[in-house]
Amino acid sequence: DSAGSSKPAGDDSKAPLPKGVVLDKDGKPCRTCTSVASWRALTKQADLKNANSTSTSSTSKMTIPTAGLAAAATPSPSETPSDCPPDVEELGRSTWTLLHSMAATYPEKADAEHQANMGGFLKFFSKLYPCWVCADDFRAWMAHPSGRNQPKLGSRKEFGWWMCEAHNEVNRKLGKKEFDCRLWEERWRTGWKD
Ligand code: FAD
Repeated sequence: DSAGSSKPAGDDSKAPLPKGVVLDKDGKPCRTCTSVASWRALTKQADLKNANSTSTSSTSKMTIPTAGLAAAATPSPSETPSDCPPDVEELGRSTWTLLHSMAATYPEKADAEHQANMGGFLKFFSKLYPCWVCADDFRAWMAHPSGRNQPKLGSRKEFGWWMCEAHNEVNRKLGKKEFDCRLWEERWRTGWKD
């Protein structure tokens, strides 16, 4: 399940929220848990609602072209400014870049202190990641009762592979293609072989 579908929001509201919109713990839409597409659908819905309320409260008989209004309020992806708050996807891409880069620069053989530092980082990361539904699932995956998904921190190779598997777990959940973990170092450390 994606963040968009695992914990959908708005079941109890009068107008159901657009598909994929995830609520934060305070009950408000969570931008960092929601894709830009779903966020736009939400904005569109709000625009329509506003337009309709203006229209019904107005004493004139003027017709408000709500569909046109909504379309005008919905920029195409190429028009999305780059300095907007991140959605779940942009946040995810940036975070995977950080996480895989941490693996790529991890010591070939990690001493106890390094292992403890990284273990601590992952523990707090999995609690503090700004998409809370993503964080909950990531924590649950790491805490699998068999212990098989615990971070492997002994060496760069182990850790990089573990990170790749963690990422593949999310890829599977979102219905994306799995990445071949034999290639993680080429992707994130050495660059592709010619
Ligand atoms: P990304 O998945 O962001 O990948 C970026 C690049 O990494 C790819 O282009 C590829 O070159 C490389 N890559 C892909 N897979 C691997 C791998 N296994 N190992 C190494 N490199 C790889 N989104 C949700 O909608 N719901 C969630 O529950 C959710 N949980 C997340 C949990 C975490 C911890 C993180 C960091 C992100 C999560 N995301 C979630 C975001 C999601 O994983 C993607 O980042 C987002 O959908 C954008 O995907 P993308 O296709 O652009 O590439």
